[in-house]
Amino acid sequence: MQASENTNDDFLFIDDSDEDEILHDGNGETWKVLIVDDDPEIHSVTQLALSDLIVLGKHLEYIHAYSGRDACQLIEDHDDIVLVLLDVVMETDDAGLNVVKHIRETLSRQDIRIVLRTGQPGYAPEESVIKDYDINDYKTKTELTRRKLVTTVYAAIRSYQQIHSVNQNRIGLEKILAAAAELLELHSIHEYAEGVLTQLKQLSESHGSVFCARGQGIIEGTDDLSLHILGQLGHSDELIEQKLSCIGRTVIQDRITSSFTQKKNDYGDDYAVLYLTSGGYRAVIYLDLAQVLTDIEIQLIEVFLTNVSIGYENVHLFQKLRNAAYRDWLTELPNRLEFVNLLDKFSDREESDLVAALIDLNHFSDINDGLGQDLGNKLLLAVTERLKELGGNCQFARVGADVFGVIGPADCVNPERLISLFHRSFTAGEHRLPVTASFGLCSKSSAGSQGVQILNQINIALNLAKKSNHENFVYYKQEMEDETLWRLGMIRQLRTDFADDRLELWYQPQLSLVTSKVIGAEALLRWRTAEGKFISPAVFIPLAEYSGLIVEIGDWVINQACKQIKVLEQQNFDHVGISVNVSIPQFKRENFVDSIIQATINHDVKPSKLELEITENILMDEPQVVIDALVKLKAEGISIALDDFGTGYSSMSYLQKLPLDRLKVDRAFITDIAEPGQSLIADTIINLGKQMNLKVIAEGIEEEAQEAHLIAQGCDEVQGFFYAKPMPADEFLQFLRDNQ
Ligand code: C2E
Ligand code: MG
Ligand code: MG
Repeated sequence: MQASENTNDDFLFIDDSDEDEILHDGNGETWKVLIVDDDPEIHSVTQLALSDLIVLGKHLEYIHAYSGRDACQLIEDHDDIVLVLLDVVMETDDAGLNVVKHIRETLSRQDIRIVLRTGQPGYAPEESVIKDYDINDYKTKTELTRRKLVTTVYAAIRSYQQIHSVNQNRIGLEKILAAAAELLELHSIHEYAEGVLTQLKQLSESHGSVFCARGQGIIEGTDDLSLHILGQLGHSDELIEQKLSCIGRTVIQDRITSSFTQKKNDYGDDYAVLYLTSGGYRAVIYLDLAQVLTDIEIQLIEVFLTNVSIGYENVHLFQKLRNAAYRDWLTELPNRLEFVNLLDKFSDREESDLVAALIDLNHFSDINDGLGQDLGNKLLLAVTERLKELGGNCQFARVGADVFGVIGPADCVNPERLISLFHRSFTAGEHRLPVTASFGLCSKSSAGSQGVQILNQINIALNLAKKSNHENFVYYKQEMEDETLWRLGMIRQLRTDFADDRLELWYQPQLSLVTSKVIGAEALLRWRTAEGKFISPAVFIPLAEYSGLIVEIGDWVINQACKQIKVLEQQNFDHVGISVNVSIPQFKRENFVDSIIQATINHDVKPSKLELEITENILMDEPQVVIDALVKLKAEGISIALDDFGTGYSSMSYLQKLPLDRLKVDRAFITDIAEPGQSLIADTIINLGKQMNLKVIAEGIEEEAQEAHLIAQGCDEVQGFFYAKPMPADEFLQFLRDNQ
């Protein structure tokens, strides 16, 4: 009987009852079952026995293998096999057990369920095999009635599904932990938003998503409470930083707004709205779904949100820190530090026509001092607004108190556009203030590779623009930097050479045109370097002025000159005076007047023997300070000459206030004086001097014809190579003796 049962496959149809409870409607999806048996009949019988079976809503689909080897291959090819009905004895006695080992050990597939079947009880595997390899069931083929088979398959598949969903949950949780850790690393709100959306896409298989929050504090210039899009997937990058309404679909907007105001999630058939909150920071995520979320997916998503919400708070705190470090508090523009960062990126950007510029407001401190800081701040805000008119995605920064930075395409950031911004006056409080500015520009093609360097380059251009009398803008060029380096080197050398006593004071005689006698000399600096080279004062005096070194040098010059006056006196040339050139920075020194008076006292010389030569430009900065100082010096008896007269830009009304003794006609007006029609300016100055009751001395006389013209015009005195070149002190004394 036993034998007949073994050979008679009818047993598979015994006992067909009770199966309805496990039959449901299928939905097209299937469970893949691999039948492994070297007996083809077992395949058909098994399939027949399980026909129409639906387990947990899905039909079965069969794959067939007739040997252990085939089975291994098929399992590798189909990673969605859930159950293997496996014959133990096939090409070898342990062929089935080798398949088990292959599944569990080689492929590490712990989830696939295995039911072992054998024809003979004697071939039953060891109990340890069943435990170690997680065999679901072990049946002799005699036990495989339809009812038992169905129950076994049902139990195995259900167990597969539980293992599978536990596995999925584990994978989901691992992802969440990894995502939360990764999101904590993100410091920018946009990166964070897109990071969250990317993770959610994996958890929910959404095909489009947006991340929304209030833009205030995140997006520049948003001060209202409306929702903005901070991140997106599957839409367009153009939505970023835009108001929610840009999304264009009112249903979605309404769902997002309602979730935000009601502070809760909203799950629909083809969408989910997720509410995120931490530390008072709130956001809403909208997902477009292909299908309704399962309970497990919802649970995972909610665990995910709880985990990553702390990251949302973090990015906000980070943003606040960043704002404090990189934003200007008044205008909310990037500050100097951030401008350097922007310039770093500027050099890496692909657009070739970019320009970076600095805009320096002229005389801002006067407005600040005169009208108050409050108004000054308002003006800066008005300028900030005006700058934005440049458009073209320009980036702006406030780099210094009254200095703004801008980076943008050349057709927006150019002198014409920048200057035109200042054509209209600015409204600050009740005032309409006209403001002018100076501009330093640097095109990407001439810019360095690092932000700090580029800022320095634009600064060089700006400084030149500020000094320029012609244009209020300058583009940076490489030569400028070379010149700056050269200048710094020269200043360093001048400083050491001055300390090493390498400066000399030479004297150029001045003569009376009436008596032809020497009446004085102009003291002129000479710099003889260690190599014995002379460097012209026309070169080094501006450097000494620029570096402030002129104050010390000027002091030395005054004392040298006084010493020389004393020597002249002792040698009986007490009618000969000395003129000394004085520069603007010397006047800014607090005790300038006293230091000069003190020098005349120290050297015991008559103040009237000392003359100070000033130029008109001295009046440009702070005319009243200069006038007051000169009035005091004049009161002490010191004489004042106006040098290079006619070449500067001073106003006649100021000139009138100067306590002058002499006018010096610049060499430029003397050079062609003997040519017909070329003497007008010189003649006018001589005439003006007479009208103002001043002596007039002409400089740069090189020819007799020039002298003749000056005599004819009634000019009082002369100085020039025609009479004598500047010479060292001892030569000057000799010159005086020879010309007595
Ligand atoms: P400056 O005060 O106008 O001095 C006159 C300049 O004209 C001197 O040049 C002098 O050598 C030159 N000169 C005089 N006669 C003739 C002539 O017939 N033909 C030509 N071609 N040149 C003539 P220098 O010595 O090179 O000085 C240049 C400038 O440097 C001076 O112009 C003055 O502005 C400045 N400087 C010189 N010494 C001092 C100083 O001690 N202090 C300050 N602050 N500036 C000084
Ligand atoms: Mg002079
Ligand atoms: Mg001169």
